[in-house]
Amino acid sequence: MITVTNLKKRFGENIVLNGIDLHVNRGDVLAIIGPSGSGKSTLLRCLNLLEMPDEGIIEIGETKVDVTKMSRKETHLLRQETAMVFQNYNLFKNKTALQNVTESLIVAKKMDKQEAERIGKELLVKVGLKDKIHQYPATLSGGQQQRVGIARALAVNPHAILFDEPTSALDPEWVSEVLQVIKNIAEQNTTMIIVTHEMKFAEEVANRVIFMADGNIVEENEPKEIFHNPKNQRTKQFLKTLE
Ligand code: ATP
Ligand code: MG
Repeated sequence: MITVTNLKKRFGENIVLNGIDLHVNRGDVLAIIGPSGSGKSTLLRCLNLLEMPDEGIIEIGETKVDVTKMSRKETHLLRQETAMVFQNYNLFKNKTALQNVTESLIVAKKMDKQEAERIGKELLVKVGLKDKIHQYPATLSGGQQQRVGIARALAVNPHAILFDEPTSALDPEWVSEVLQVIKNIAEQNTTMIIVTHEMKFAEEVANRVIFMADGNIVEENEPKEIFHNPKNQRTKQFLKTLE
């Protein structure tokens, strides 16, 4: 479960998150849509504390923090509750697919190498990369690299996985295989928040959708309502621009 209360973030004069309230149940797949610059990535990055929010309370899994008075220990605990999948994969270029997946298990979780490799191999098989386990990122397609990124996120067994436009850097031919992997994971009751421009995918995979604009959640509903019966004028406008 994720509960966010009055989350605020500004960069200088620019108010990017204007007091976000959000609730995600265990097993939910929440899609976040909205125009460029509306604060979608910043919201994800604040949940993971890649970006420090200015104000707000974040509760993810076992960890609840007030960001204005967070200890180092709490910061560390909250970060461990989620794993990010980035637009540009962010893989270690000098490590193989398997080493990318096992790195955090061995270094952060202090797991022994054999056990980490057993888990890593299992996850790479799960994302369809059985034959690529020992290859370096440069020798993998974009879609394959992103699937390594997804396996890496799954490896730490986080409370929730945060996807920031996981397919928008991919050549069109690789998009569907990555979306399929994400769908498979969603079906296994993994809690996920997905920022995406793929509206059809959002409609298929999510059970809730949020439309953001100017640092606010403008509308939240089931996918079929948001996409086929939007209530807010800004949501309507945004969806129209995509037609
Ligand atoms: P997109 O769909 O283009 O990815 P987004 O909804 O993810 O957009 P954000 O990346 O969250 O938008 O950015 C929201 C606003 O915050 C933008 O005005 C952006 O310029 C600003 N911003 C984001 N990161 C920073 C930063 N590190 N420093 C200063 N301003 C930032
Ligand atoms: Mg973004």
